[in-house]
Amino acid sequence: MTKLTHLSVTEAVTGLAAKDFTSVELTQAHIAAMQTDAARGTKAYITETAELALRQAGESDARRAAGKAGAMDGIPIAIKDLYCTKGVRTTAASHILEIFTPTYESTVTQKLFDAGCVMLGKTNLDEFAMGSSNITSYFGAVINPWSGPDPAKAARQLVPGGSSGGSSCVVAARLAMAATGTDTGGSIRQPASLTGTVGIKPTYGRCSRWGIVAFASSLDQAGPMTRTVADAALMLRTMSGFDPKDSTSVDLPVPDFTAAVGQSVKGLKIGIPREYRIDGIDAELDVFWQKGAAMLRDAGAEVIDISLPHTKYSLPVYYIIAPAEASSNLARYDGVRFGLRVPGESLNEMYENTRGAGFGKEVRRRILMGTYVLSAGYYDAYYIKAQKVRRCIRNDFDEAFKSCDAILTPAAPSTAFAIGEKQDDPIQMYLEDVFTVPLNLAGLPGIVVPVGLAKNGLPMGLQLIGRAFDESTLFKTASALELAAGFTAKPPFTA
Ligand code: GLN
Repeated sequence: MTKLTHLSVTEAVTGLAAKDFTSVELTQAHIAAMQTDAARGTKAYITETAELALRQAGESDARRAAGKAGAMDGIPIAIKDLYCTKGVRTTAASHILEIFTPTYESTVTQKLFDAGCVMLGKTNLDEFAMGSSNITSYFGAVINPWSGPDPAKAARQLVPGGSSGGSSCVVAARLAMAATGTDTGGSIRQPASLTGTVGIKPTYGRCSRWGIVAFASSLDQAGPMTRTVADAALMLRTMSGFDPKDSTSVDLPVPDFTAAVGQSVKGLKIGIPREYRIDGIDAELDVFWQKGAAMLRDAGAEVIDISLPHTKYSLPVYYIIAPAEASSNLARYDGVRFGLRVPGESLNEMYENTRGAGFGKEVRRRILMGTYVLSAGYYDAYYIKAQKVRRCIRNDFDEAFKSCDAILTPAAPSTAFAIGEKQDDPIQMYLEDVFTVPLNLAGLPGIVVPVGLAKNGLPMGLQLIGRAFDESTLFKTASALELAAGFTAKPPFTA
């Protein structure tokens, strides 16, 4: 029989219902896996919650015995440490929140718990979700399980992507069955690509942002990270839904995304945006992209050329809007309301000391950029201009979706790179987001599916972009791609 930690969520749901094993057994297998030296060496979890997990698993088994099991009852998952969890420390991977324990539960985690999920722990991330490599975490860089059988001892330690690097690591390494991520500019999809996992950023408004530590509020979205498309559909169905506590949450019914998995893509039109073939696109990546298009064509879809003319402005626009919103959101960490306080002679000095000591370098850089573009003299030149171009980017997609149903693109410019690489050059790091940020700016859903291994033995994913609130078409198309690609490779380190 397959090891319990290697089952997919969908398989485990069936196994639990058939009483092949209990949630306590399934949870214990994951806890044992998490607690090995090699697993802890990846630094994927900031906080392990084994005791809570076992209690929740026991309650789940009792519910099942009473015939009251929910849709994901007894499934052990990991939660990105950006989601507030009642009574469990929530750090955003920052020194400033190192001692913060929320008195409330985020809407999305509450929905997962209501469906019966068990929480194994809180996963590491780039500080305040700012980054593409997980190296800006106050709690140390996460090491990609593709680095070697004992990732922490590997000669070349690879990043798991970011900012949801802890989540991508635990899912790839079988240290959790699934995890939550958040995606402001690619933080679910780029780590999925770098670890050979599936990740979807739903349409803006699909999941409530309430109780998730805010980075850039007009871009932030919650989403799942899993090992299969079917699991992503089940997770997203559980996480989605209208929430009056989030004014940008949308009051639309949540379709049963799992029903779309495995449906035929015959007759669907798949667009290939010519502007995504950026100068110097990696030759191997280009080959995978073409192969992906061929797979969908063979499955009955029609592949057409499309144009998204404002693509080249996406990164500059993102790196104006995201820091602007971040500088405003992060003003609340003042040494009074949350977490760390470093005393000073005056109130202003206390603010300065607290924020100087509490925020890491990248977060400070974003606050500076954001404050600059919002300042009186530059507001029109940068911020307002960026908002106008953002509209053009959205219009490009609206135009494209008149002639196609989904868009196929690369997910990340390269396979996983080494810790330390790109670290001293923020621009290099920002380029990691070139394929992912346009969707956040346009509010559209995007899913990443692993399609194969590059010559260096590392996974590569492709991204599918959909119409607003049409995640079902994405799941349908992604499952066709998953089936054709038949990606079954596992990292050298798994539990
Ligand atoms: N890498 C991007 C950034 O650094 C996106 C991060 C995210 O999606 N949270 O801002």
